[in-house]
Amino acid sequence: MRIGMGYDVHRLVDGRDLIIGGVKIPYEKGLLGHSDADVALHALMDAMLGACALGDIGKLFPDNDMSFKDISSMLLLKRANEKILENGFTVTNADITIVCQKPKLSPFIQKMRENIAGVLSLPIDRISVKATTTEKLGFEGEGLGISAQAAVNVIQKI
Ligand code: MG
Repeated sequence: MRIGMGYDVHRLVDGRDLIIGGVKIPYEKGLLGHSDADVALHALMDAMLGACALGDIGKLFPDNDMSFKDISSMLLLKRANEKILENGFTVTNADITIVCQKPKLSPFIQKMRENIAGVLSLPIDRISVKATTTEKLGFEGEGLGISAQAAVNVIQKI
């Protein structure tokens, strides 16, 4: 059994869709990034790769590779999961915390869990997604960006 952690931050800007946990969330701004900038899935993938000591998403999906431009992070998650499966690992559970002042994420949490559980072929009760604010403190609190943290447990197949 192994544990991994992941952390990611993206800037909130005008003119981009806001996609978190594979859910398109109605909001006046979106996250800036080379892919769709899905901060929650990026933290999750880094936790998965970290648990298996297989590097990080920057190594797996370089941001100078145009094939990843605006790509759905749901697809990247599928590929990251294939990578860890190829190396003999399986995710057993994941816990993600999204730090976001606005918009309110609670209506979308269940759909995020379903999306992630679907890609990882896990029952939904193995996937936890939580959202918190920072009481208007820091870059998340000022609405400049959104961060996410993830912890993942994997088992190594014998
Ligand atoms: Mg990222």
